[in-house]
This record gives sequence, C-alpha cells and structure tokens, in this order.
Amino acid sequence: MPADLETAEPARPAIRRTGARQVRPATEGWQQQKGADGRPLLQFASPKRGKPPVHLADLKPEEWKGKAEELGLPGFRVKQLARHYYTRWTTDPAEMTDLPAAGREELVAGMLPPLLTEVKRLETDRGDTIKFLWKLHDGALVESVLMRYPGRITLCVSSQAGCGMNCPFCATGQQGLTRNMSAAEIVDQIVQANRVIASGALGGKKRDDHSQERVSNIVFMGMGEPLANYARIMQAVRTMVAPAPNGLGMSARNITVSTVGLVPAIGKLANEGIPVTFALSLHAPDDGLRDELIPVNSRWKVDEALDAARDYFDKTGRRVSIEYALIKDMNDHGWRADLLAEKLNERGHGWVHVNPIPLNPTPGSIWTASDLDVQREFVRRLEAAGIPTTIRDTRGKEIDGACGQLATEG
Ligand code: SF4
Repeated sequence: MPADLETAEPARPAIRRTGARQVRPATEGWQQQKGADGRPLLQFASPKRGKPPVHLADLKPEEWKGKAEELGLPGFRVKQLARHYYTRWTTDPAEMTDLPAAGREELVAGMLPPLLTEVKRLETDRGDTIKFLWKLHDGALVESVLMRYPGRITLCVSSQAGCGMNCPFCATGQQGLTRNMSAAEIVDQIVQANRVIASGALGGKKRDDHSQERVSNIVFMGMGEPLANYARIMQAVRTMVAPAPNGLGMSARNITVSTVGLVPAIGKLANEGIPVTFALSLHAPDDGLRDELIPVNSRWKVDEALDAARDYFDKTGRRVSIEYALIKDMNDHGWRADLLAEKLNERGHGWVHVNPIPLNPTPGSIWTASDLDVQREFVRRLEAAGIPTTIRDTRGKEIDGACGQLATEG
C-alpha cells in the first residue's frame, strides 16, 4: 500500500469535519513501549512474581473450612472470623472476643494475613475525598479513592499493580503491568476504607445525610484494566455481593466494572448472571483516533466494543455507560459527538448513556480540558440525538492528576 494511503484518515462526510484543530495523542515526558510491529505494546499476561498470601477473600465460603484445617486451624471457627472481617472490618484478634483466646491469633494470621499497608493518604480540604496509596506484600504500589456524595459513599478501586494497556495519557500505563492483584487485595481496599469511615475520618457528612456509614458504591476505575484480571475481579465481585458473613452484602448494581474494550471478556461478564453496571471507556468514536488514544483498539475496534456493550445490555437488562474524557482539540469535536450518537443509535435506543468527563485544565499539555462552550456543544449534540448524557464529576482529580499518579511518584 502506498505510504500516503497508509496514513490517510478514513473519509467522512464533509458535514462532520469543520476544519477544527486536531491534536494527536502522544506521550509527554516518557516513551511508550512498542512491540515488534511498531505498535504500542499490550501486556495481557501478568509477569510471574511471588503471589500474595492466600486470604479468606480469595476463597469461596465452601473452601474456608478446608483451607483452615490444612493450616492446622479450627475450620469451624472461620465463619465467626469472616463476620469480624466483613461486617466489623477488623483483623485485630483482641477485638474478636467471641473466639477462644487460645489459637485466635494463629487463626487470624492464617486466614487474614495483612495485604495492604498504607503508605500515604491525601485529603481534600473538606475531607470528603481521601486518596490512599497502598503497598502490597512485594512492594508494588496501588491506590484507591474514597468519595462521599449525597446519599452514597463510593470507592474507586485498583485491580492491577500497573497496567498493560499502555494508554498514552495514563500515568499507570507508563509503568507497564507489574502484576495482577489477588481477589483479596481488591476486597481489602473496601474493608480498609470501611474501617476508615467507621473511625469518622471521612468528612463532608451533612446533618440530613442518613446514608449508611460504609462504602455503598464501587467503581473499578483505579489502577489497571479490570477485565485483564478477569478471574480475580470476579471472585472479588462475588465477595462484594455475597450476604454477610460470606461477603460484604453490597448491591451488584452499585458496582461498576469498566474496561477499555476487551471484547471477549465483556461477553463473559454478560453471562455471569451478576447484574453489575458495565462501563466502556470509549473516549473516541472513530478508529482513526482511538487506535492512538487507546492502544487496545488495534485488537478490538470501536464497532466490536460497542456491539459487545449492546450485548451486555441485552443479556443483563442493565443500561451501559460510555465514558468519554473530553480532551481539548483531540476528541471533543462536534462531528465526533454526532458520530458517537449515530453509532449508539444504530444499536437501538434506551440501552446506553454517555458520561463525558471534563479533564482538569493542564496548561501547556496536549491533555487538557475542553473549553466550556465546547463541552456544552458536545453534550447538546448527544442530547439532540436522543442520547441520555450526564457530565461526570471529576472528584479526586483535585488531589492529583490522572489515576496512578500517586503510585508513580511513590
Ligand atoms: S487508562 Fe486504564 S487501561 Fe489505559 S493504561 Fe491507564 S489504567 Fe490502563
């Protein structure tokens, strides 16, 4: 193929192209790793590293007794232990007075080994958002962000240390994939957050707010691509939704699993029979831009990802969220709003809504906020085409820039 054709943009109707500036995605201050084909490297397999110790939350309840007995511990006591961990968020043997003192410490050490050590904590002025940096047993760093909203408390959790998806805008992507997190390391982020909330450390509670004082909503939007760590995130999700003492007793609909578009795994998720909320981080409706912005698009194209998202709706009846970070002069053009609406409407109505996410302004960077009037026009076009659209809160961003930044600095 002649070189000029190779690089040519696909033709689009003139109405879509306004001659507006087009900023191309590029890394700033770091080099994206490339594969033999010259494309950004994608890492799907977790590098082999020492696994974290097996923990109660890694196991199905029917496996608890056997595991404890394997360790020479009284298996019939594990249910009591689980109640302490999942409902009182404690791992302190001194607080577990219903367990016989003899052997209590051994039972805790064997079934609830420490997984996350807090390294750093950043809070907003009002204290209603807390970002945690955790160190894992092998020194890998991950983070979670706890946010109070009216009537709910949301925790943004990490699912991998680092990430192999190599998105050029992402601090986590620069690190590559260190390793998959275990199910218990994912769940422990919630248990630790619940402990912090119970201690009164999460601010911003209004007097008329009668929300339960524990994490009510989970978003898998911290470090990592959740669907690249499928088996462990699903074990974690099952633990989140299992009623106490088998798990945290959360509502599946309040758990959002997001992905940059790992199509086969979206299909698997749709067949799990657990109606979690599904979010597709799309960020561009055209392959020309998305190939550069989200490297996994070279594997599964926009249309395949949208077909999988629609299929998720068909199988679960859960409306899908499309996440779309609005980046100045890169993906915020009116024609892209029209194209997105067209692609969503082609697949039916009432199955999807769009969350544009305005970035924080970053002067001098190519990754900066769209102008307000551009944001409004983007939303207006989607709504005019009948697509429910809600600009998403960018809470947590005021603490740091992109996800993964804390761990990169750490
Ligand atoms: S944006 Fe998400 S998928 Fe992409 S590199 Fe960062 S963490 Fe991974």
